[in-house]
Amino acid sequence: PTFESMQLREELLRGIYAFGFNKPSAVQQRAIVPIIQGRDVIVQSQSGTGKTAVFSLSALSAVDLSIREPQVLILSNTRELAEQSAKVGMALGDFLNVSIHACIGGHSIQDDMSKLQHGVQIVSGTPGRVYDMIQRKELRVRHLKMLILDEADEMLTKGFKTQVYDIYRYLPPTTQNVVVSATLPQEILDMTDKFMNNPLKILV
Ligand code: AMP
Repeated sequence: PTFESMQLREELLRGIYAFGFNKPSAVQQRAIVPIIQGRDVIVQSQSGTGKTAVFSLSALSAVDLSIREPQVLILSNTRELAEQSAKVGMALGDFLNVSIHACIGGHSIQDDMSKLQHGVQIVSGTPGRVYDMIQRKELRVRHLKMLILDEADEMLTKGFKTQVYDIYRYLPPTTQNVVVSATLPQEILDMTDKFMNNPLKILV
């Protein structure tokens, strides 16, 4: 499929072409549509395949622009990755009036709080800071509809397991879950069994 056939918003298509993408990569061709349709999806793919755009476009499609509260949460295992995903989302979403915030350790807590009070719709962060913001009720979860876990295998080996599980437990039960991982060791399968609803597995 082409990007046009994916039923993305017009403004999002403009963002995609302005960013320089012409045709979807293999993982984008297979994963974007089922995610947009609301399925839980496990994407097994490496960096370099275009996975960041898979979840960025899915996140941007999911947001109800009239609701100025967090609706999509993207969790990454490093600050750099969380910032990078936020940047890709901002670039692809350039023609949408969408608010994206990187919620990462090392930045001021005050700054996070003030951003989160001003209508952030997509939060891209690291588990520690995100969990902290949820517990402080600065990151409101009542409108969350999608959780994306990037590099899930790295996340669990880095010792973020408890925090990731804690975050999952705070989410509304209807939250759609997307997991991206280069490998699918037993630990990941245990987690996806626990938190995902009949996930579609896409191996690229
Ligand atoms: P990722 O796997 O997300 O790290 O992406 C790897 C690289 O591929 C990044 O530099 C992206 O900008 C680029 N990329 C992703 N999707 C496409 C596409 N559909 N067309 C051209 N380049 C792309």
